[in-house]
Formats: sequence, structure tokens, C-alpha cells
Amino acid sequence: MPRPISATLHLSAFDNNLNVIRNCAPQSKVWSVVKANAYGHGLSRIWESLSATDGFALLDLNEAILLREKGWKGPILLLEGFFQPQDLTLLDHYRLTTTIHSDWQLEAIQRARLSAPLNVYLKLNSGMNRLGFPVRQAETVWQWAKSIANIDQITLMTHFANADNPTGVAQQFNDVSDASANIPAPRSFANSAATLWHSQTHGDWVRPGIILYGASPSGRTADIADTGLQPTMSLCSEIIAVQDLSKGHGVGYGSRYQASDAQRIGVVACGYADGYPRHAPTGTPAWVEGVLTRTLGTISMDMMMVDLTPCPQAVTGSKVELWGRNLPIDDVAAAAGTVGYELMCALATRVPVKIEN
Ligand SMILES: *Cc1c(COP(=O)(O)O)cnc(C)c1O
Repeated sequence: MPRPISATLHLSAFDNNLNVIRNCAPQSKVWSVVKANAYGHGLSRIWESLSATDGFALLDLNEAILLREKGWKGPILLLEGFFQPQDLTLLDHYRLTTTIHSDWQLEAIQRARLSAPLNVYLKLNSGMNRLGFPVRQAETVWQWAKSIANIDQITLMTHFANADNPTGVAQQFNDVSDASANIPAPRSFANSAATLWHSQTHGDWVRPGIILYGASPSGRTADIADTGLQPTMSLCSEIIAVQDLSKGHGVGYGSRYQASDAQRIGVVACGYADGYPRHAPTGTPAWVEGVLTRTLGTISMDMMMVDLTPCPQAVTGSKVELWGRNLPIDDVAAAAGTVGYELMCALATRVPVKIEN
């Protein structure tokens, strides 16, 4: 028998979440963002559940090629563009749409020998200060791109730094809108947070990632409670042993939790080598046989301990959900000082994955 841990993918939730996105942005086409191996879910496992999308956006050329080889014929967008001029041979062969964020990429396309022109996304830096041309260069860069025979359709793109928090998108949105007012090209500005909360930014293509997987862009479960989004992943395991502690007994490495009274605890087959965050402190929520309880002490490589005080019926073999349908991943992430994105991306390859419709 394998260890009792597994991740279940709820494929019908993808369809549901894509519909939520379409209702939010009815005028826009949707790039389903599936970078990082579909946020840890496994691109080859889930892409067909999203085949009603208008396109897939990702970073890794190998993931783009995988999608083509699996049979996806629609648009694929490389969100960081290509990394060296030689990559253009593959972009050409697999007909990939590429982001362009730097001069050298335009020069490389200009010089390349392609079988047909490529569609490009011109990335404008409107304040994130990560990738992109300064917005004040928008017209110059657009003119340059337009003059290149190897370039077919041009879309303008930017990325928001604060669409999920009170700072908002106004400054960035105004700057990019002003700078591109005279450019007759489609727009793609909105990540998940802007798709949900800043409809003025939707433009021609939205680029949602995290909400496809049913988690919150802000990291707060309450912020997506009314959206109808459903989680796409549940990480489940079992209690493999029970310990009865006396007052003063410590738990786990460093004895960082100490029982203040007699206490029953469960040992769960899940640890940081499965992708559970080691920095999750005592008190991080866990679900045991229908009851919400909490972790106790340091997370080990392969195990963790949970408080069985609220669930006296729990025994060896009892079902535990670390996150998923019964326990939002954002609640676990918030307790551990991170975001749902990081938890799903970190799911370890040793965890068996079950597929459910
Ligand atoms: C990751 C990414 C997205 C999706 O972000 P979410 O917050 O997951 O919606 C959109 N656009 C770009 C450029 C990205 O890198």
C-alpha cells in the first residue's frame, strides 16, 4: 500500500470557473493561464477541462510544445516571450504568440527567418517595473513592431501590481491608456484580480490564472466567497497514529508545541516533502473527519501533527483534508504567511494525483 496521501483534481470545477470568468468579462476573450505546470496541477492532466478557453498562456516553451503535441490548435501565448533568438525557430514551427518586452526581442524577430509572421504581445511597463517597455515608448515601439514583416497581429499588454489590494489599478490603467490612446491595437491588461474587481480594464483579452483554480487573488477566502468559484484541488491524507499527551509533553522537532493539559493528537501522513509549507505554525487549520482543527508543532518532512481535541471520534485511518473543498487553500496559506498560489505550485511530484469529474 502507498502512503495514504493524495491530491484530487476536481475537473468539473475548471469548467465552472471558466464560466464564472466569462460572466465577469463577457466582452473579452480568455487566456487561461497555465504556467508553472498549470499552477501545480499538471498541464497534461487539466488542459482538456479548459478546452473551451480562447487560448492558453504560459512561460515555458516545453509546456507550449506539450500542448501542441496533445492536440491544442488554438492560440498559445508565451507570457515572458522568448529567451534567446534561436527559440524563434520553435515559436515559428509551433505557431506561438510571443510577448515582447525588450528591444533585443524586436531585433531578433526582425532578423529571423520565419515560415510566416508571428502574433506578438507588446508588454508595456505601467508601474510593475518587472518586464516591459516604459509606457512613454508605447507609440515608438508599436511603430517599430508594425514595420517588421515578421510580425502579424500586435496586442498591447500590461500587468497590474495592485489589482488585488486597496491601491488598485487606477494609476497604472490611466498611464497605459493615455500612452496608448492613439494605437489601434487590441488590449490585454487584466489578471485574475482585475478580471474580478476592475471591469474597466478587461479589454479584448483577460488573463486569469489563480481564479481558474478556485483560489483568491487577494489570498482572502472571503473576497471570492460570492463568486461561485470552486477549488480544483483537494490535498487529502489520513491519520496514521494517535498519541495521548500529558500536560507538559512536547510535540515534534524542537518540541515547539507543548501540551498544557492532557491532549489527544493525530499524526498525519503529510509533510513538507509533499509540498505542505514547513513554516506553517501551530494553529494552521486542518480538517479531520468533518471537523476543523489545527496543526501542532513543527511540520516534519513526511508527517505533521494535528489536535484531536475537537474531534474525539478521530482514529487511525480517519480522513484528513489539508486543503480543498472543505478547507479553502487560502485559509491554510494565510495561516502560513503565504498565498494559495505558492501552495498549489509546490505540490510535490511524489504525491499521487487522482482525477475526478
Ligand atoms: C501569472 C500571470 C497572470 C495570471 O495571474 P493571476 O494572478 O494568477 O491571475 C497574468 N498575466 C501575466 C503576465 C502573468 O505572469
